[in-house]
Amino acid sequence: DPDAALAPLEFAVTKNLAAKSPAERDALLAAPAFGTAFTDHMVDICWSVRGGWHRPRVQPYGPISLDPAAAVLHYGQEIFEGIKAYRHADGSIHTFRPDQNGRRLQRSARRLALPELPVEYFLQSIKELIAVDGAWVPSGEDQSLYLRPFMFAKEAFLGVRPANKVAYYLIASPVGAYFKGGAKPVSIWLSEDYARAGKGGTGAAKTGGNYAASLLPQAEAYEQGCDQVVFLDQDRNVEELGGMNVVFVYKDGTIVTPQSDSILEGITRDSILQLAADRGHKVEGRAVSLTEWREGVASGDIVEVFACGTAAVVAPIGELKGTDFIDEQPLGELALSLREELTDIQYGRREDRHGWLVRL
Ligand code: PMP
Repeated sequence: DPDAALAPLEFAVTKNLAAKSPAERDALLAAPAFGTAFTDHMVDICWSVRGGWHRPRVQPYGPISLDPAAAVLHYGQEIFEGIKAYRHADGSIHTFRPDQNGRRLQRSARRLALPELPVEYFLQSIKELIAVDGAWVPSGEDQSLYLRPFMFAKEAFLGVRPANKVAYYLIASPVGAYFKGGAKPVSIWLSEDYARAGKGGTGAAKTGGNYAASLLPQAEAYEQGCDQVVFLDQDRNVEELGGMNVVFVYKDGTIVTPQSDSILEGITRDSILQLAADRGHKVEGRAVSLTEWREGVASGDIVEVFACGTAAVVAPIGELKGTDFIDEQPLGELALSLREELTDIQYGRREDRHGWLVRL
């Protein structure tokens, strides 16, 4: 491990003198709306070609001052992550497979020509934020503190080249169940006119531009009365939703998920497939064409289709529109039982046999 010998960073901590009162905070925690309220502090670490990673800080949450020529505002050199902190019944706070998010941030960084934050620093940034804002981790059912690490080109210049000055930040927002009532089947719109990613593009990186490109097709999905959009690749293979991976369950118990270098490698998906493999299911990552989906549903070979990601955990796909077949699925039994097993581990209600939790 090239990062093993790194000395920990020494964070300079500036407490927020205008922090929310416990009563104000509890009011926000009682009914958190996804990504609208933020904790009292944020973490940032600077990077420069000359100085490497430096000036690690914990500071009051607030606006960032940025030069109007900052490269991120012009060429979108930006990446991010999404991970949660969970409160267990004994009050302790845990996060889930942060090493995986740290490594994915490094892979995204490589694709966007940004510096790779050592995984140790990534984990340390989470620990530092929780040390000051731990009270913001809610304890209600299906609630958590959503952590949003991100990195962007800060250097002021208008040339197209990788920035020599970069900033890493971590902010956090208390969240409740993504779908009220646990897992509700979502209806999906098949995007025929727009692609999310191309061969050799940035589809496997968690970069803002991918999400910007998904907004118009997502708006089309809403217009069609659908919750989410599913994207195909140039060969009409299923890729993923705007922010979730897709998983197919076959009659014989085989579980298949689309795999290609233009799909974001979801950590929820990886965990769910591992839990399914533990139960004896055969698990495959390979291309799944729209034809296979259509024919599998028609023949009864495909018995469940679900989406998964950190925010919503698992969402059964109840309906697929926008193509020449309509796939109407009941709430998948396997999807729901894997969802329960995963959330039981995350919330400390079940043994963490893979050692996925990290106590903060
Ligand atoms: N695909 C996309 C495009 C996403 O934005 C996300 C959310 N990070 C996922 C899949 C699911 O990834 P994860 O399970 O790691 O949240």
